[in-house]
Amino acid sequence: MPELAVENISKSFSGNTVLTDVEFTVAEGEFFTLLGPSGCGKSTTLACVAGLEDPDSGTIRVGDNVFFDGRRDTTVPPEGRNLGLVFQSYALWPHMTVADNLAFPLKLRKLPADERDRRVDAALDKVGLLELRDRYPHQLSGGQQQRVALARGIVYSPGVLLLDEPLSNLDAKMRDQARAWLKDLQRDMGITTVYVTHDQVEAMSLSDRIAVFLGGRLEQVGTPAEIYETPATPEVAAFIGRCN
Ligand code: ADP
Ligand code: MG
Repeated sequence: MPELAVENISKSFSGNTVLTDVEFTVAEGEFFTLLGPSGCGKSTTLACVAGLEDPDSGTIRVGDNVFFDGRRDTTVPPEGRNLGLVFQSYALWPHMTVADNLAFPLKLRKLPADERDRRVDAALDKVGLLELRDRYPHQLSGGQQQRVALARGIVYSPGVLLLDEPLSNLDAKMRDQARAWLKDLQRDMGITTVYVTHDQVEAMSLSDRIAVFLGGRLEQVGTPAEIYETPATPEVAAFIGRCN
């Protein structure tokens, strides 16, 4: 049962503190959002969970599986963490078909060809793009490419899905559609999700709970209603657009 626990992680880059004692847990099946302005440390937090960066201190675990506890010899490498990653910058490979883009992470995991095909088609079916499996990325719209990136994030049934601003390259109309579709998919799959955005409306409409991040610290964690109705600090109130 994947409860993701991030305990007291801190991180600096060349003496510049980026995260200070960041702490949150995400329950099984929960849609949990890190919300904050650009530069506040959201992507760095996700990178630490994914193992692409190591915190300077703190603990990260999923269930009983400790990914990081400050000791280099026990740190679990990214490929051992069973996480699905969809980052804004994780573009599709242009020279591979949609199906091959999805099959690639399964090849790395050494799944046999028939099992790969089955999983690729199941993931494409989930995002409603099965009929586009043999196209190349440049033959798809931006919204379709984003769906393929999501399908690639879920194709090996990860325990936790990490989404870093996945809708930010879409135009406003597409973003509204994609938001509704993403929420349906997450609910349907029941997959534990950590979502990163700087967009207050997006966070409010998608999340079970939101962590408001300002300047590398968590200011408040709560449901959208709690955050909106009882912001913990004037800074949270200002950021989510409430004037107290
Ligand atoms: P967000 O995703 O909330 O916009 P980031 O986590 O990307 O914020 O960045 C937080 C801060 O850490 C920024 O000031 C950024 O410049 C800095 N930072 C992020 N990654 C690095 C890195 N690899 N080296 C140095 N500074 C970094
Ligand atoms: Mg970021």
